[in-house]
Amino acid sequence: MGIRRVRQCLLLLLAVALPAIAARPAPPARPLMPLYDAAGLKKACDGAIANARRHAKLMGEKKSPTGVFNEWNQLQIGIEDVLNPAYLLGEVAPDKAVRDAAEPCLAQFISLNTELLQNEKIYRRVEAAKPANAHQAKLRKDLLENFEDSGVTLAPEKRARAKAIFDKLEELRQAFDRNIRDDPTRVTFTPAEMEGMPAAYLKAQEGKRDKDGNYVLTLAYPSYFPFLANATSGEARKRYYVAKLREGGEKNLAILEEIFALRKELAALYGLPSFADYALRRRMVGSPQAVDKFLASVKDAVVDLEKKELEELRAEKAKDLGTPLADTRLERWDTSYYQERVRKARYAVDQEELRKYFPTEKAVDYVLLVSQRLYGVTFKEVKVPVWNPDVRYFDVLDAKTGAFQSGFYLDLYPREGKFNHAAQFGIRGASLVAKRTPSAALVANLDAKGLDHGELETLMHEFGHVMNAVLSRTDYQPHSANGKQDFVEAPSKMYEEWARREGPLALFKEVCPDCPQLTHEQIERLQAARRYGQGIRYARQWLYSVFDMELSKNPRPPLAVWAALESATPQGHPEGTMLPASFSHIASSYAAGYYGYMWAEVLALDMLSAFHGNLMDPEVGRRYRDTILSQGSQEEEIDQVRKFLGREPTSDAFFAEITGKR
Ligand SMILES: [Zn+2]
Repeated sequence: MGIRRVRQCLLLLLAVALPAIAARPAPPARPLMPLYDAAGLKKACDGAIANARRHAKLMGEKKSPTGVFNEWNQLQIGIEDVLNPAYLLGEVAPDKAVRDAAEPCLAQFISLNTELLQNEKIYRRVEAAKPANAHQAKLRKDLLENFEDSGVTLAPEKRARAKAIFDKLEELRQAFDRNIRDDPTRVTFTPAEMEGMPAAYLKAQEGKRDKDGNYVLTLAYPSYFPFLANATSGEARKRYYVAKLREGGEKNLAILEEIFALRKELAALYGLPSFADYALRRRMVGSPQAVDKFLASVKDAVVDLEKKELEELRAEKAKDLGTPLADTRLERWDTSYYQERVRKARYAVDQEELRKYFPTEKAVDYVLLVSQRLYGVTFKEVKVPVWNPDVRYFDVLDAKTGAFQSGFYLDLYPREGKFNHAAQFGIRGASLVAKRTPSAALVANLDAKGLDHGELETLMHEFGHVMNAVLSRTDYQPHSANGKQDFVEAPSKMYEEWARREGPLALFKEVCPDCPQLTHEQIERLQAARRYGQGIRYARQWLYSVFDMELSKNPRPPLAVWAALESATPQGHPEGTMLPASFSHIASSYAAGYYGYMWAEVLALDMLSAFHGNLMDPEVGRRYRDTILSQGSQEEEIDQVRKFLGREPTSDAFFAEITGKR
């Protein structure tokens, strides 16, 4: 049960806070991603930063506030035109030299960001500006908060310290992720220890055998997760589990401790008691107390269910090994294995079998078809220059008028050196005032032959992010994406349901008449199998969230805090493991924000209820597009949800879901 199994989107949050002054020529009809080589990337990066500084200087020299919103919009556009492609290429460029060139570039942009947001002259102009409409008023409010959070109102020495802290935090975040990426750990298993592994898995690992015929496995998810779920040897699973839970190593524990100490110091510069207070006052949730209250209600809801599920798994283990129940202990490396056994026995769900139902190319066609029908758009594949031959590009056109709206790239298959999770990357933000159309990329690591159900959900989830990005119709680029970090996962979490429900899944036969079709009964069993283990899953999510909040409220050595929290759970803390060393969310902008996955799910499931069971209702789809997907953060997220639902949101659907009482 690794942390990153929860799908995350690595939205580049810093881009929201960042800002070209001169009017730019009208954009071409189909803006494409620049494909820099390493030298080109460095040159573009240096150029964009120098331009931004020049424009900021001009902005600061003006006395009148007039025009400051459009100037800031242009400044941001100039930055994202280089920053976003650099960020994406850093994760997907086939040439390592390009990926390496992205790191210092990003660090420079972080530094520039703080510098711009500490620009007192621009701050004064924004402060004096009289908004002409609601979107400008929201932009003014957001900008003032961004400026203030970056230290512009602090005394000069405190402001300098804030800048130094932001720079250092980015340096530490990069080091933390590098220590995980470059972790050399390999775990060796004899052929006998591979018992239980599917034939396709063994075939994929064939190239990784040493001279003695043993399998030498890395800590990558595609190797690790199936092993934990299928390998019959408990000893072998234990070895892999402990190695995986040491990923990142002692070095990362020290880095994490330094990161949280610096965050505390940052909050103190503002007279705030903790980093949690500093971060959460800008989120939907509003305060640490509100997060604590939410997490307490999650715990209450799942505590008994978790115990019940663990007991069932323990009984399954005793039966499997023929040991007396009283002497049988369910270890953490046993959980997925016995869950998988129970799922197969009880629900007859075999994930490997499902790949026949969802050939990958057809599954992509399915996601595209569903989205076009639901949102009244047409996707047209166009051959354009891309960073790797298997990357595809699509124009998004209005279904009625055929007008060009935006575009997206799909980079779906694994390759050496590529980003190893699934995420949506923004390339261009939308800005109606600048006549700027958005674009985005979906990056994933799918099995090219066919998807299991989890992968279909992942594809749907990430495409939910893509729709949110490319259907954005905001006045200003800084509002193009959702600003509230505890909302960003809501549209994508919601879209996962389109991989689960019978109504939309019936459309699969349109994209693949020859594929076997899931029956009503199979879909029911899939749903039941997915829900099995909710108690264990949400209890774990609760634990990660509480750990994040503990460090954000009161920084202490991370491993001690984690071990104490985990020891208090039914399965305890496995000696020698150090989960915090690879918890990259909290080393990055997700700190004091891990709860946001569950918080966004509350909103996702509530919004889903507006479809009244008909997930392909184009009228609701249209309303959802107009009130949520197109609005970015130019309107408060809570108000968008109220408009869509026609009422206050509630957490009823969420708690019904996690307790299986839906
Ligand atoms: Zn996501």
